[in-house]
Amino acid sequence: MPVPRIETLETLLLVDHHCHGLVRRELDRMEFERIMTEADHPGLPGASFFDSQLGFALRRYCAPVLDLPVHAQPDDYLARRAELGADEVMARMLRAAGIVDFCVDTGFAPERLTSSTELAAAAGGRGNDVVRLEPLAEQVALDIVTGQVGVAHFPDLVRARLAARAAARGPASSGSASSGSASAGSSGDRAGGAGNVDVVGVKSVAAYRVGLELPAERPTDRVVIAAVRSWVGRLRAGAPIRLADPVLHSFLIWSAADLALPIQIHTGFGDTDLHLSRANPLLLTDLLRALAPTGSAVLLLHCYPFQREAGYLAQVFPHVYVDVGLATHNVGRASSSVLAEALELAPFGKLLFSTDAFALAELYLLGARLFRRALGVFLAEGIADGDWTVADADRVALMVGADNARRVYNLAEKPVAGAEAEAAAAEAAVEKPRAAARARGRATSATTKPRGTAKSSTAKAAAAKAAVVKPAVVEPTPEEADEEKATGAKAAAAKRPAGAAGGRTSAKRAPAKKPGPAKPATGKPPARRSSAPEQQPARGESRGDPPQEEPAAKPRPARPARAKPPRTG
Ligand SMILES: [Zn+2]
Repeated sequence: MPVPRIETLETLLLVDHHCHGLVRRELDRMEFERIMTEADHPGLPGASFFDSQLGFALRRYCAPVLDLPVHAQPDDYLARRAELGADEVMARMLRAAGIVDFCVDTGFAPERLTSSTELAAAAGGRGNDVVRLEPLAEQVALDIVTGQVGVAHFPDLVRARLAARAAARGPASSGSASSGSASAGSSGDRAGGAGNVDVVGVKSVAAYRVGLELPAERPTDRVVIAAVRSWVGRLRAGAPIRLADPVLHSFLIWSAADLALPIQIHTGFGDTDLHLSRANPLLLTDLLRALAPTGSAVLLLHCYPFQREAGYLAQVFPHVYVDVGLATHNVGRASSSVLAEALELAPFGKLLFSTDAFALAELYLLGARLFRRALGVFLAEGIADGDWTVADADRVALMVGADNARRVYNLAEKPVAGAEAEAAAAEAAVEKPRAAARARGRATSATTKPRGTAKSSTAKAAAAKAAVVKPAVVEPTPEEADEEKATGAKAAAAKRPAGAAGGRTSAKRAPAKKPGPAKPATGKPPARRSSAPEQQPARGESRGDPPQEEPAAKPRPARPARAKPPRTG
């Protein structure tokens, strides 16, 4: 029987609907290993986190991107990483990942991370922001504690500030976004580009704070104010500034629903702040049922090991979606079964791709590479058994890899100029460094294709077709090719000469260009968790969460210092 190939999946430019910024300073092995996992400690001697599904996947898929042999040893990998520098590693990983749209959760930044604009610039893609709800409410609580506003204003202030953030969405019908010019929840074809970032959704970390058994019904302002009064009392008694009240988490989610914003909710595993038994998405059932009439999309993030439960919720509720980001790179070669379990019940139009990459550029590559592999295995098996057609598999690949997210977040369908040539260059870099240099040269010398021009349905169709034929994956090694022949997931791009797709390219990024401003000091000695936990780029979702970007309506007087990110609770 011929081996089925899902060429569409292997060449598709992905939409990453949930991810984070990257650390741009050098990391020693202890720091690197800490970020690799959800643990809050580095690998112990004899139990390195490199000896894990993630570690093995990293050595296999990331080493060639840094011109190393597949399966290079960890110390060799980290030495090469340091030699290239964080910015070069970021650029290589992002280009090789083949991601064209980034929806970046900007709410957790224990140290300076790349912004969505900087990520997009490095990848040749587009950046969008996702606003984390809890820091926004914590900022209002701070204003109450410092006497700037009264407790009774909390509900209105939260709603107003959230609406102001949501207003940073592109205009409903223009071809280029202009932040702040449209009302919240506007719809239409938005074309946010690097440097012109749209807010496309919100994110709740209630799972980390109180668990997911939240009040289903919308809390009244009176109930919210009573909860805030109690919270402020604790703050004035010296408690850390950390929202953890089921009523207030529910209020925030309802406030986002009122603005018709897509709502991301962390579910399933995470760092040690979490009590996993309280992160089962089934605990959200009553709230999801109550939210259904609002029409706001609810996106269950990560879900592991509850991907089957999440798949069920995605099937029975029209507004519920699911992803298995974070789990994908953590479980490594087991990602095929995790994804398949989510898709046992979830309709194919309800699963979204995400990496949940945080701090390490490698996690973007691994999230994308393992996703392509996992979905490829899932689809190829159906074809091989004669249960599904290749055409249907191609359609599912497009849906899950990009189109579902574009629909939910109302993202423009336009391909990003330059991404194609960059992806070709990155692909070539894996096997042929010289060819890669030539391909990069083509990428930077070719004619720029302006963004925001594909407005007609014909142009959109052409854009979608173009997206299908772009190489976007790391070329498999011979061993990979053998393995993937068995699954039907061999990269179609491997058949294409490097740079062959460079006809529609861009001069958007010169190789020497360093994306973004302010780079954290690279010569800084690595901070140790025990002495400076707030400087550690710990992998996680909640922890204290000093808000990275807060609406500042007016100058504020001196206020109590924020508590250091707590490790638990
Ligand atoms: Zn995340």
